[in-house]
Amino acid sequence: MLSTMQDVPLTVTRILVHGTLVHGSSQITTWTGEGQEPHRRSFAEAGLRAAQLAGALRDELGVEGDQRVATLMWNNAEHVEAYLAIPSMGAVLHTLNLRLPAEQLVWIVAHAADRVIIVNGSLLPLLAPLLPRMTTVEHIVVSGPGDRSLLDGSHARVHEYEELIADRPTTYDWPEIDERQAAALCYTSGTTGDPKGVVYSHRSIYLHSMQVNTAQSMGLTDRDTTLVVVPQFHVNAWGLPHATFMSGVNMLMPDRFLQPAPLAEMIVSEQPTHAAAVPTIWQGLLAELTAHPRDISCMKTVTIGGSACPPSLMEAYDKLGVRLCHAWGMTETSPLGTVANPPAGLTAEEEWPYRLSQGRFPAGVEPRLIGPSGERLPWDGESAGELEVRGPWIAGAYYGGANGEDFRPADKFSEDGWLKTGDVGHISPDGYLTLTDRAKDVIKSGGEWISSVDLENALMAHPQVAEAAVVAVPDAKWGERPLASVVLKEGASVGFAELRAFLGESVAKWQLPERWTVIASVPKTSVGKFDKKVIRRQYADGELD
Ligand code: ADP
Repeated sequence: MLSTMQDVPLTVTRILVHGTLVHGSSQITTWTGEGQEPHRRSFAEAGLRAAQLAGALRDELGVEGDQRVATLMWNNAEHVEAYLAIPSMGAVLHTLNLRLPAEQLVWIVAHAADRVIIVNGSLLPLLAPLLPRMTTVEHIVVSGPGDRSLLDGSHARVHEYEELIADRPTTYDWPEIDERQAAALCYTSGTTGDPKGVVYSHRSIYLHSMQVNTAQSMGLTDRDTTLVVVPQFHVNAWGLPHATFMSGVNMLMPDRFLQPAPLAEMIVSEQPTHAAAVPTIWQGLLAELTAHPRDISCMKTVTIGGSACPPSLMEAYDKLGVRLCHAWGMTETSPLGTVANPPAGLTAEEEWPYRLSQGRFPAGVEPRLIGPSGERLPWDGESAGELEVRGPWIAGAYYGGANGEDFRPADKFSEDGWLKTGDVGHISPDGYLTLTDRAKDVIKSGGEWISSVDLENALMAHPQVAEAAVVAVPDAKWGERPLASVVLKEGASVGFAELRAFLGESVAKWQLPERWTVIASVPKTSVGKFDKKVIRRQYADGELD
């Protein structure tokens, strides 16, 4: 029999209305630069302005149905308004990753058939030269400071965000939307081949937001302020704009001020209790704080993920009174998959392996581990295989293949519909995931696997090493062997023999790299992850010894 419960769709609209009414006094603070008063907007104001934006998009720009409205924006209050307004009116929010190569941006805009782009004025130098090739785009809406004359002669109509929404009704007759409808579209960063579009539904966003808000996950409340460094243009800023609107968490938005010094300044000045960003950001901030110490212990917890958090980084932040909490996810998983809150009742020492793991699976993310011959592996904390997941906020396909249909490449989805994450690791009996590598980064030496992440973490624990990236390079005898590329700290004078001996203290001898090189910095992807592809290519081209 069916239940007797009400069938109320789980929609972004409900998050918008709830946050506006129930948490109206919570704040979105946008940083505006050194010595400037930050810009402050309440959730109540943002909610009313979201209604005005939806009205303008419909009445002035003719947005209808599930048309795509793109954003090319930093993290700021207007971007949150777009996050809420666009899906709530039934259209699809398409966040454009401003760090992608120009060709990919042009490709993505065409693939998504974006009609409108809302852009921050500071990003016009990026957009304007590409616009002539973005032929689907009919309207550009500009928000914030920047040189508008760059758009002179554009084929698209140009609007001012503030003028567009001014004097419009602050209510909107939000439509009742099927919860399975598309709400937002985000493309993977295209590290292999063309980027692929993941389409989030209203339902997946709603359920993901509830998960973000549990104490097992980020667990924030209206007593918290979260510094949202993780970009809104990549995987929905880890779900924070929606989750915070649901539970009244104040947001501190860095806008374009993402360098270590302004980040330190905004932390000291605004006293956030939480933050979220990839390890590269926290490495940079640590160097800044070492040079110019400041107290950042207001941040009780920092969610860190996107790539593995080196243990040395966690220890360094422990000393600053800031607890880094590891999390794992990907564009296809909305993105939060696991969060590493240790189980109850452990000493600090016993907690350590749990903190270093990628985290525990929540209800809603069902995992399985697949071995090299396709066999299911046990959760014994040792057997390593490829992770596959399924759940209500996990992608089951990509948007719009060659024939316009959604598609499921065999290397990304199993025959029975699970997402193949491409991540390799093991799961403990109590459901904690530890990743040892990405399938494509693992080093296959003489029939054994060497984890590049283990070597990198061990190297980054050396006091004179700032960063280290280890990649597989071809080897006549072993098939593949590790190449260690290290970035030394300023003034460091350590030699490879010493680094190798240091590694030997924690790593099996047969895993120790024979090939070493010093590099000025580790090449990074558009979202700040180590770009090992580039290192492999440089090695193949003979640019690295
Ligand atoms: P891309 O594949 O382009 O990097 P994503 O941002 O979706 O796009 O990246 C997801 C991948 O990032 C995961 O599959 C995993 O390899 C890596 N990743 C994310 N979080 C972590 C983490 N905490 N530890 C190790 N790797 C991580």
